[in-house]
Parts: sequence; C-alpha cells; structure tokens
Amino acid sequence: MIDMPKLPFAEDAMEPFISAETIQYHYGKHHTTYVNKLNELIKGTDLDKMSLSEIIKTADQGPIFNNAAQVFNHSFYWNSLSPSKSAPTGKLLDKINMDFDSMDKLKEAFMQAGTTLFGSGWVWLVRDASGQLKFEKTPNAQTPMSSNMIPLFVCDVWEHAYYIDFRNARPKYLGEFWEHINWDTACKIFDQTDNETYVGLKSCKDIHDPFCQLLDEVLSNELDEE
Ligand code: MN
Repeated sequence: MIDMPKLPFAEDAMEPFISAETIQYHYGKHHTTYVNKLNELIKGTDLDKMSLSEIIKTADQGPIFNNAAQVFNHSFYWNSLSPSKSAPTGKLLDKINMDFDSMDKLKEAFMQAGTTLFGSGWVWLVRDASGQLKFEKTPNAQTPMSSNMIPLFVCDVWEHAYYIDFRNARPKYLGEFWEHINWDTACKIFDQTDNETYVGLKSCKDIHDPFCQLLDEVLSNELDEE
C-alpha cells in the first residue's frame, strides 16, 4: 500500500503562480486518484508490500506502471517547487556551468524542451548514467526512473497543471515555473548522488534501490536533517 504524500507547502503558497484551486484539483484530485487507483490494482498482490520505486522497477508497462509512475512524478513535482526564489549553488552550479555554459543557457534549454514536448508529459533536469546534465522529456506517465537517470527537478506540462491559471499559455507557465524551482532540493539530490553508486556506466546499472531510499527522504522532506 502506498500512502498519499503530504504537500510540502500550503495550498495557497504558490499564488499567483499556481492557485489554490489548481492545487485542489491537481494534488487533491488527480494525484489522489493515482494513489487510490494504484492501491486498488496492487491489493492482494506481491506489489502491495513494495515501495513505490520497487513497483516502478518491477511492473510491466500497463495500468500498474502508469499509476505508480504518475504517483512518483507528481510527488517529485511538488518537491521541485518553492514558494520563494532560490538559485543553484556549490557543485550543482559548477556542473551547470560546465555542461550548459550558464544559467541563461540552462533556462533556454528548459524552455525549448517544455515548448516542444507534444501533448502531455514531463520535463526533467536529469543527470544521466555518464554523469552529464540534460533535459529529458517524458510523455504521459513515463519517468526517467526507468532509464536509470537521476532527476533533479521536474515540470509537469500536462494541461491540468496550468490550465486554470494560464489557460493554454504553456510558455508563460514554464517561465513562471523557472522562478519557482526548488534549487535547494535539486542541490541536495545532486550532492548525495555525486558518487560512484549513481555515476558511471559500470556501477549505474540500476539506480532504483539506492535512489529509493533517497527518494523517500526527499518526499518526506527529511533531507534537511541529513
Ligand atoms: Mn499532473
């Protein structure tokens, strides 16, 4: 059984970027439905005793995988958001400058990825198995967890994420998202995964198990306590 994770900020904390009304639908209805549906599907099976990332790793493409991945993707999305403006620091900032040249170029690449993703999906800043930072677009319920990439933040570009507040103006939503990225969380994930367990083709065959624990810490907002 998978628990509904708690929202890491107050319902109205993101206004005017994301209204309380959007949160009530997106978190209160969409996200909750994925959790309930997943629990319905795994009830009485071996998957019922597994963690979320173990389910994602184990399930074949289909309803269980789709609902589990959507639960993960949404939990990660809420934790990618910050009510106040932050900025990358330390090792992640150095890595951004190395792989993208500058923060302006990083934003350009993000906007490009978000505006060219056709239909419903997700835009992730990830670190791939070779150690490179890049933007990864995943359609529908696909998740970089399946490709052994480390996600640092994600933007939900399904219309339900922005339609109430921005109607169909996706670029405007993407621009506002950029101002609300939780860089503290991204930096913490980067620092904790900047090691041979996660980086390097040889040892990065399967990030699920070590990332599972880290994910639990991120989602329960316990990273601050280290
Ligand atoms: Mn969504």
